[in-house]
Amino acid sequence: MASFNVLMLPGDGIGPEVMAEVGKVVDFLDKQGVARFETETDLVGGACYDAHKVSITDAAMARAQAADAVLFGAVGGPKWDAVPYDARPEAGLLRLRKDLGLFANLRPAICYPALADASSLKREVVEGLDIVIVRELTGGVYFGEPKEIVTLENGEKRGVDTQVYTTHEIERIGRVAFELARKRRNKVTSSEKRNVMKSGVLWNQVTSALHKAEFGDVELEHQLADALAMQLVRWPKQFDVIVTDNLFGDILSDIAAMLTGSLGMLPSASLGAEDPATGKRKALYEPVHGSAPDIAGKGLANPIAMIGSFAMSLRYSFGLLEAADLVETAIANVLAQGLRTKDIAAAGQNAVGTGEMGAAIVKEM
Ligand code: ATP
Ligand code: MG
Repeated sequence: MASFNVLMLPGDGIGPEVMAEVGKVVDFLDKQGVARFETETDLVGGACYDAHKVSITDAAMARAQAADAVLFGAVGGPKWDAVPYDARPEAGLLRLRKDLGLFANLRPAICYPALADASSLKREVVEGLDIVIVRELTGGVYFGEPKEIVTLENGEKRGVDTQVYTTHEIERIGRVAFELARKRRNKVTSSEKRNVMKSGVLWNQVTSALHKAEFGDVELEHQLADALAMQLVRWPKQFDVIVTDNLFGDILSDIAAMLTGSLGMLPSASLGAEDPATGKRKALYEPVHGSAPDIAGKGLANPIAMIGSFAMSLRYSFGLLEAADLVETAIANVLAQGLRTKDIAAAGQNAVGTGEMGAAIVKEM
């Protein structure tokens, strides 16, 4: 039986609460003999700062490097507002992303029919929506040099950020998107601003060349990022996989998130380069939501984003596609049956707690 090493980093706030529900799903799959999961748990974020005065230890980093996948809860909270900048809770996540080389951020936006009325858009526009935004995560204007505020001779200041993309960076993120589309509805929409940006011209050229050379079986279209933002709220179901740079991806994925209704529902994956020897890639899976200090410790958190993130690891890191389907179908079914945590309950509707939602999903599986 296949065996996988999973590092769990629950973190702060509701992180440990939602991670505990993933633990139930893992135990169930393990008992069913789907695969063997060797799980380890370590500290990250404020919890790690309290114990070690850093947001992640070198030992935990080494475990993350060795793991087949990292499951990350959430970090931060008012308790750590005053800690030194380099040790702030978020620094742990940034180090993980950087040291594991996680350049591809996958954010699915799924709108379950049972929750379509929670969206900011009309039911018919979002019901059944199932798209993925693939955002480049380690390059572009957030990291390009020069990056500075300079004082000019006349005393004025100038803030400078630089958008930089290389052929290699565009090709590897494009490849992730095309391969993903092949497992879905076979369509990629690539987005940039080639009308005003040189990096956009290159992005467009490299994506087209890669398509021609290796992915002729996948449909490719190009949309300018501003036009795509408009299309996302006009008729999002036209898309399957959207691939774009760090900045546009940041904005477009937040738009896509609101199409689906609730922060507690959204999973994500961050993937690194494929090791040519083993065919494996480094990967970290985390809910889109944060540590939600306002509801932490109350058993109210919705565990679906975290469980959905684990389902993504089944699909992308472990190749257990049937198990991924099983988890995702169970989530859809409990929602269709009317089960709701507080964040997704309609006014007056009964809500269940974190543990009940997790248990119901496992029972449905
Ligand atoms: P971060 O800064 O870490 O991104 P944030 O402060 O922007 O976090 P969250 O911590 O995700 O956002 O919380 C925003 C709001 O959404 C809070 O009111 C919180 O209670 C709610 N929320 C977030 N995640 C969940 C969840 N899993 N279940 C229920 N409510 C949630
Ligand atoms: Mg916050």
